[in-house]
Amino acid sequence: MTRKKILVTGGAGFVGSHLCERLLNEDHEVYCLDNFFTGQKQNIIHLLDKSYFELIRHDVIAPYLIEVDEIYNLACPASPIHYQYNPIKTMKTSVMGAINMLGLAKRVNAKILQASTSEVYGNPLIHPQPEKYWGNVNPIGERSCYDEGKRAAETLFSDYHKQNNVKIKIVRIFNTYGPRMHPNDGRVVSNFIVQALKNQDITVYGEGQQTRSFQYIDDLVVGLIKMMASPDSITGPVNIGNPNEFTILELAKKVIQLTQSKSKIVYEPLPSDDPMMRKPEISIAKKELNWSPSVCLDEGLEKTIAFFKSVL
Ligand code: NAD
Ligand code: UDP
Repeated sequence: MTRKKILVTGGAGFVGSHLCERLLNEDHEVYCLDNFFTGQKQNIIHLLDKSYFELIRHDVIAPYLIEVDEIYNLACPASPIHYQYNPIKTMKTSVMGAINMLGLAKRVNAKILQASTSEVYGNPLIHPQPEKYWGNVNPIGERSCYDEGKRAAETLFSDYHKQNNVKIKIVRIFNTYGPRMHPNDGRVVSNFIVQALKNQDITVYGEGQQTRSFQYIDDLVVGLIKMMASPDSITGPVNIGNPNEFTILELAKKVIQLTQSKSKIVYEPLPSDDPMMRKPEISIAKKELNWSPSVCLDEGLEKTIAFFKSVL
């Protein structure tokens, strides 16, 4: 096998750190670029002494020059509390980050994969969501900096491909969870597990009837690598997610049961524009990438709970 030089932006984050680890295990040379806004050195500390791993502190809103064969563009805060903290910066990260990384890909003739999101479907009116669905997104709401930033990034990827023949791969990632989520990340799986392990109230927003479909991190990493390895004609967008759909209330009850917690469920206001349902249609990933998720929610939650027990 030829060792590839691979740049992972957002490599010190939750998904990025798992991806860097897997690429190193596959004997590639990995450049992990991050500004540490939501990422942590702790996530990649075990990789720092590997000869083929390099850590770069850099912000993707500024250009960066490096000779690589492949780029995974993951840099962007993903949790609503973090991407809403500085919405203008979130939009800059998505849009200027995409422009800078696409410019780099064009210059060095690298393949580039964009970590897009199910948020491009907004509060969907079609269920489950196929890639051909254009979505139902509020352009001026609380979530818009992220949703519209990611949509603009998809446009940029598509146009760099059409105009400059850049080899692109767009993956729409659905809710993913697992070890190395930050305890204060704010997303639902980590919130519920941390609350349950501390016997604190479990905060269900709204009545908990909204649904999400949860994918374990290992399945996502396999999907990202398969997408990158696919023929150049496969540009995406491709949904990568686990179609197992649960209400948020079901998730809360499951976490309480698996942790044998004494926590009680409390109800808090539903944030604005919170999508009421979400489930990926994954027939393209199955057919084109020969990919489908293999970790069920109970198994993934057990592993994630074990991780949080070790860090709390
Ligand atoms: P994360 O917040 O753990 O990781 C994001 C990483 O990007 C962090 O290390 C952060 O420090 C870094 N970053 C943020 N802004 C940056 C900037 N301007 N320059 C350089 N680095 C920057 O989130 P995650 O869950 O690992 O998500 C990774 C990617 O996957 C994101 O692009 C996200 O939008 C996408 N995604 C994730 C999910 C999910 O459920 N985890 C779902 C859909 C899409
Ligand atoms: N949520 C919740 N309690 C929490 C955190 C989130 O009920 O402590 C809900 C949130 O309102 C949303 C769902 O869980 O309906 C998933 O939220 P998350 O922030 O994980 O991801 P996203 O909304 O971006 O899919």
